[in-house]
Amino acid sequence: MARSEAYEVIVVGGGIGGCFAAATAAANGAEVVQLERKPADQGGFIACGDAIKSPTDPKGYPGPIDMAAITSDEAVLADGNIDKIEWWDEELGVRKVLPYETHSNVIDRYEFGQHLLEQTGELGVTQHFNTVVNGIVQNGQVQGVEAIRDGESVEYEAEMVIDAAGAQSVIQDMVDFEDLAVEPEPTFEKPHYTHFGSAYREIIETDEPVEYQNAIVGKPLEEMGYVWYFPRSPTAINVGLGFQMNKEPIALADRLREDVEDRPEFDGASVADRFDKKNKLGAALALRRPLDSMIAPGYITVGCAAGTTHPITGKGIRGAAFSGYSAGKTAAGAVADGDVSEQRLWEHNHYLYVEHGEAAKLAARDAYNVAASSIDIPVLRAVAAILPEDEIREIVSTKTSFDDLASKLSIAAGATKNLVSHYRKGTFEHLGVSKEMLYEALMGFRTTREYVDRYEEHYENYPASRDGYFEWLAERDRIDDEFYDAIDLEPDARKYQ
Ligand SMILES: Cc1cc2nc3c(=O)[nH]c(=O)nc-3n(C[C@H](O)[C@H](O)[C@H](O)COP(=O)(O)OP(=O)(O)OC[C@H]3O[C@@H](n4cnc5c(N)ncnc54)[C@H](O)[C@@H]3O)c2cc1C
Repeated sequence: MARSEAYEVIVVGGGIGGCFAAATAAANGAEVVQLERKPADQGGFIACGDAIKSPTDPKGYPGPIDMAAITSDEAVLADGNIDKIEWWDEELGVRKVLPYETHSNVIDRYEFGQHLLEQTGELGVTQHFNTVVNGIVQNGQVQGVEAIRDGESVEYEAEMVIDAAGAQSVIQDMVDFEDLAVEPEPTFEKPHYTHFGSAYREIIETDEPVEYQNAIVGKPLEEMGYVWYFPRSPTAINVGLGFQMNKEPIALADRLREDVEDRPEFDGASVADRFDKKNKLGAALALRRPLDSMIAPGYITVGCAAGTTHPITGKGIRGAAFSGYSAGKTAAGAVADGDVSEQRLWEHNHYLYVEHGEAAKLAARDAYNVAASSIDIPVLRAVAAILPEDEIREIVSTKTSFDDLASKLSIAAGATKNLVSHYRKGTFEHLGVSKEMLYEALMGFRTTREYVDRYEEHYENYPASRDGYFEWLAERDRIDDEFYDAIDLEPDARKYQ
């Protein structure tokens, strides 16, 4: 028979979301245990491009974790000089430079993860490493988890379970949501596989500093995805690539080799070592939009498991952090109130969509994703080539607004200038993109922008209590249908079909 241990809050996962959740719940008075399947010295060793946006911004990283202390350690913040994003389409001779005034950095993700775990422990969280969660205890509400700790079966009981187990979490697969005490039906949205992407990276050490040492660089793949070069230091480059799971899979490691092998800066370079192995890691990641509802009785989910992460716009680490904070605070409050119902835990959904608000922005911008997924890659590359930097910044949300007439006119003028120049160079003939195809894509893009605004307004009106949820959801689904019709989306390209 399994040994049993009791706490008030169980946090599954020792990543970003798990640490922010556990630390916040403990700082708010709860008795917390954090369960992580890896050994203590490998916690935080996670597949990542290592790019972190504004790491000391309290909105991105709220709660008791001291990000200033962590990122002031040179072992974590090897290169704090990143001040631009560059988009290279080398075949077309395109190089877009987007200034990054919100300040980005490339960190050593392992060192960062170790510091996070250490601070979480110091804030009073009990941490069990080498502990794999492999079962759920539920009876009307989620009441605990079953796990194997150092080879021994342990049953952990608690009032609240926070699922911070990352993309494609097995925890949410194991909870029987239909069997929980919720009327008329559970609100929790089970993630669909198209919520996720798959990505892979290597840390490559070069002999000489790379020329783009203060930029994070992205490049298109012929498939729906992109390659990145993120300099962790002038000579240690996080090089990786990824694709969305609604597209054909790519042999990621082979595809990366193909990309780097002829580049002069990687001539003679080698993959760095970590734990006596080559530092190569791949994983799934959530890169679409937050779940419509992230709670169930006794259960809250965060980070990649909740879809609050959007690595493409620099919110992979950050999206796990602020959602972890929200879950920790909500869970501690619910335990103190003796009420872990959906009504009580609704605070988590509402905070993320309305008070914090980032979830509303991410969810609204998923319209760009839906639209882009339905366009052929050569057409997308042509669109990226002619769009001025300002417009791209809006899409990747490094810029907040350009609604005044002057900026709109300058964007239109910029696009026309780029269009003329690319026609002269023969870019579009080379890609096999006709004027009609380009025009259609640009019109679709304009329509999508209008819908992004409509979605954002709707998400900002996310219901304050569970009572208004199903009505709100029906209206969101109606906007979806209208949007798909407006951009003539094929039925099989529609969201989550
Ligand atoms: C290749 C790649 C590149 C990326 N690049 C960037 C980037 O440059 N910038 C950025 O901001 N984001 C990036 N991301 C995304 C970012 O890494 C994630 O958004 C972030 O790690 C999510 O944090 P999390 O806490 O939700 O999940 P994770 O970091 O995945 O943590 C989950 C934890 O749960 C543990 N766990 C899982 N299942 C169990 C179980 N059953 N029992 C016990 N423990 C369990 C895991 O071991 C892990 O430690 C990238 C992701 C990938 C895969």
